[in-house]
Amino acid sequence: MAGELILIVEDNEKNLKLARDILQFKGYRTLEAGTAEGGIELAGEHLPSLILMDIQLPGMDGVTALGRLKAEPSTAAIPVVALTAFAMKDDRERFLGAGFDGYLVKPIDVRAFPEQIRQYLDGGGEGTAR
Ligand code: MN
Repeated sequence: MAGELILIVEDNEKNLKLARDILQFKGYRTLEAGTAEGGIELAGEHLPSLILMDIQLPGMDGVTALGRLKAEPSTAAIPVVALTAFAMKDDRERFLGAGFDGYLVKPIDVRAFPEQIRQYLDGGGEGTAR
């Protein structure tokens, strides 16, 4: 079922727009934040079905934000997928070890992105999807 609410936390306007445009084109509703602090606030307020979290953000980073979201009972169950330019093997282990539900490498693969999102929404997107 389409129409789920997806929160994108990304400080790069171009990356944010690309992800948002694809998701909206596919029928999802989106929320956007340019900072981890803003994303945490929106997540608590709207309880989205999925959160895409950039790692490098001004102020609080994405890993710290993940910890906050998982420590808060109302948002703990929301899957959080790291959205990151880091593409080294060790980074993958690091992000999954930190508790992210998945990992997407930037720039996102425009063709594969909708199916990757679908898998995470359906709970089957464990690990790296690219
Ligand atoms: Mn960033």
